[in-house]
Amino acid sequence: MTQKKESACKKPVRGTREWAVAEINCCLGCPHGCRYCYARFDAVLRKGRVTPEQWPVSRQVPEEVAQKHRRFSGQVMFPTAHDIVPENLDACTQVLKNLVAAGNRVLVVSKPHFDCIRHICSEFQDAKKSLLFRFTITARDRKLLDLWEPQAPGYAERKTCLEYAFAEGFATSVSVEPMLDTADVVVMVHELLPYVSHSIWLGKMNRIAERVEADSDTMRMAIEKIVAGQSDRHILRIYEELRDIAKVRWKESVKEVVGLDLPAEPGLDQ
Ligand code: SF4
Repeated sequence: MTQKKESACKKPVRGTREWAVAEINCCLGCPHGCRYCYARFDAVLRKGRVTPEQWPVSRQVPEEVAQKHRRFSGQVMFPTAHDIVPENLDACTQVLKNLVAAGNRVLVVSKPHFDCIRHICSEFQDAKKSLLFRFTITARDRKLLDLWEPQAPGYAERKTCLEYAFAEGFATSVSVEPMLDTADVVVMVHELLPYVSHSIWLGKMNRIAERVEADSDTMRMAIEKIVAGQSDRHILRIYEELRDIAKVRWKESVKEVVGLDLPAEPGLDQ
């Protein structure tokens, strides 16, 4: 889980490359248990680095925690293959300090725990401009979150984190990727917008057949609902309802449906 690649190629800009020129991580494993997790799919199923039983334990990689970073050519994203949780908070804070010390602007992406965000805000009071928070808030419906992201903080805690970071004067943004509840997403966006200084990104659940295990009737029905909910008809409706809000941005999965150009360079975050 030690990706530190800086994008320099001319491939279409997709995924995290829309947001950052480099991806930084310091742990292997994540306790949040998201059913669509790409990092788990990559580490457990593709590469066999850990077993399914080991994945929920956040294992720190000491050399990544201690790594002194250079200044990257644009915004860097941390983390991309795990999350910031109470168990690894000290390690993650150290990595953020190492990145900021080198003059980097860091996109901090998390399904946030309030204690973690309060700690990071406290530690970076004097370096607010170096961080941009991006909290992943995929739905408001508790049943959906319990099913798809069973061990991650609930909606109320994530929203509280957003309000707190915003009130503390940090740049704030939201990722609604994947949209778990397209019937409610427009209302949710309007509810979160007052606490967003930078952007709200919306995207579909990608590569469901490959990454999501349909291991029960409940999951099969949930997958069917996601697929139906992110049909072109629904994506176009959401786009029409939110397209005039300047802070709303569209991931490549939506851009392709509505006919927007994909970004030409990585890390533009716009
Ligand atoms: S929070 Fe991110 S890394 Fe952790 S399980 Fe969910 S998708 Fe995977």
